[in-house]
Amino acid sequence: TDKNLLNLNSVINALYPLLQAEALMGNKNVVLDLNGCPEIYIDEKEIRQLILNIGINGLEAMSETGKLTIRTYCEEEEVVLQIKDEGHGIKKELIENIGTPFFTTKDEGTGLGLAICFSIASRHGAEIDIDSCKSGTSFYIRFPLKSFIK
Ligand code: ADP
Ligand code: MG
Repeated sequence: TDKNLLNLNSVINALYPLLQAEALMGNKNVVLDLNGCPEIYIDEKEIRQLILNIGINGLEAMSETGKLTIRTYCEEEEVVLQIKDEGHGIKKELIENIGTPFFTTKDEGTGLGLAICFSIASRHGAEIDIDSCKSGTSFYIRFPLKSFIK
């Protein structure tokens, strides 16, 4: 992979117009809540792909007027990227299948988007946590600050 020391917020800002255009077509909205974080070693193309895959899933899970929030914040030992939707949530009994290649609940889904996200996260030493209920889902991608080291 091709990692560079980058600010995650710049990557998100550059991607925002694309996601917002996608959201507006369905009468939804994307909101950014970007907070100061140190730069980390990331592969920009891969992280763009990860945000798009998770973000578009979030948009697809919501009916009209839903809001997708992309938030960054820094904790003691990690930079956290949270992608939160107000969609229908993931059923408890399905959550263990999330990220398994070809697992999809959509008529025209490929079931590959999240599998790709898990491998991208893994190449960044990052973890993905999912917090889902009936009123929405949050994906947390946690980049350890040791990703300062290339
Ligand atoms: P696809 O989008 O092609 O179905 P993904 O790997 O992106 O494949 O997602 C797999 C499955 O995980 C989806 O079909 C859906 O059931 C579930 N899922 C993923 N993200 C969300 C979300 N934000 N809200 C509800 N369900 C989700
Ligand atoms: Mg998908």
